[in-house]
Amino acid sequence: MNTVETFPMTFVVLDMEWNQPIPYIPSPVDPKILPGEIIEIGAVKLTVLSESEYQLSSPFSILVRPMYYRIMNKQVSRVINRSTEDLKRGLPFPEAYKMFQQWCGEDYVLCAWGDSDISIMKSNLKIHNLPVEINDRFLDIQPLFGRVAENTSQQRSVAYAVDFYRIPQTDDFHSADKDAYYEARILKESLIDYFSLSKKETDPAFPTLKHFVSNPNLTTQIKWKSGAFSLEKAAVEAAMKEKMLCPICEQPLSAVIDWFTSGHTTLSLWQCPVHNTLSGKIRAKKTPSQEFYGSGQLRFVNGNAARYVREKWEEKIAAKCERECEEL
Ligand SMILES: [Zn+2]
Repeated sequence: MNTVETFPMTFVVLDMEWNQPIPYIPSPVDPKILPGEIIEIGAVKLTVLSESEYQLSSPFSILVRPMYYRIMNKQVSRVINRSTEDLKRGLPFPEAYKMFQQWCGEDYVLCAWGDSDISIMKSNLKIHNLPVEINDRFLDIQPLFGRVAENTSQQRSVAYAVDFYRIPQTDDFHSADKDAYYEARILKESLIDYFSLSKKETDPAFPTLKHFVSNPNLTTQIKWKSGAFSLEKAAVEAAMKEKMLCPICEQPLSAVIDWFTSGHTTLSLWQCPVHNTLSGKIRAKKTPSQEFYGSGQLRFVNGNAARYVREKWEEKIAAKCERECEEL
């Protein structure tokens, strides 16, 4: 099996289109279980023979006939330009997925732009009672591009990265195989940048390629417990001493907002240089012998959940300010 850092490396760049439920029509399944039903799978293979030799495959493309969301959602249709009539074509998902897997072969790193393709793929596998375990190495191209091209953790669109690398635009976006092709070109340019940067980079925190690869079959949260204490406060404080490491790459996290209490919960916000923002939460819980232990949880958060922690912290600072002003 090739590891990520030895040649040749094979990357399978996946891009899918999916239909969504229509808000005013009763959904045949819970949209929480199936947020999107796959209607097209596209992919392009990028084989890296050496730091300067790259091969792009011809695209894999397959239409999938949806079973649940068979009426085209207008908003989705506006983006990908497909009609309800078009959805009657294509293979059932289990067959299409099997063909995709066969095309992928054995030894590769699965890639996509962002992590939504992976979560949609898992929800579709689950609803068809197929094993939800997918390839155990996944690379999100977006943070790799951000780090090597612009040294930012800001999220960029595929169109932005295509412009950035001046990749010739011969087709419109939003058909799975064409998007996969653009994303594979971005990956190629990002890898070229990565190899050249990693030679001259003196920052010891500069991530290796391995740090951008995660196992999508593992959960992306960590839980821990402190020892038992007679006082609630001591239990929480003990849990706060846990060393915060990224659940994906195990690098130490930097505190964006250090632990603070908000009601019965102790919250915090953390940053991994590669995998973005995580929130920490500690609650005091009771042991059977009526003592206390701190129960901690660290998990990846999106912008909204991060804003929640930030707002709680700001409320706390404001309240503290008010109290101190009264004392003066
Ligand atoms: Zn990380």
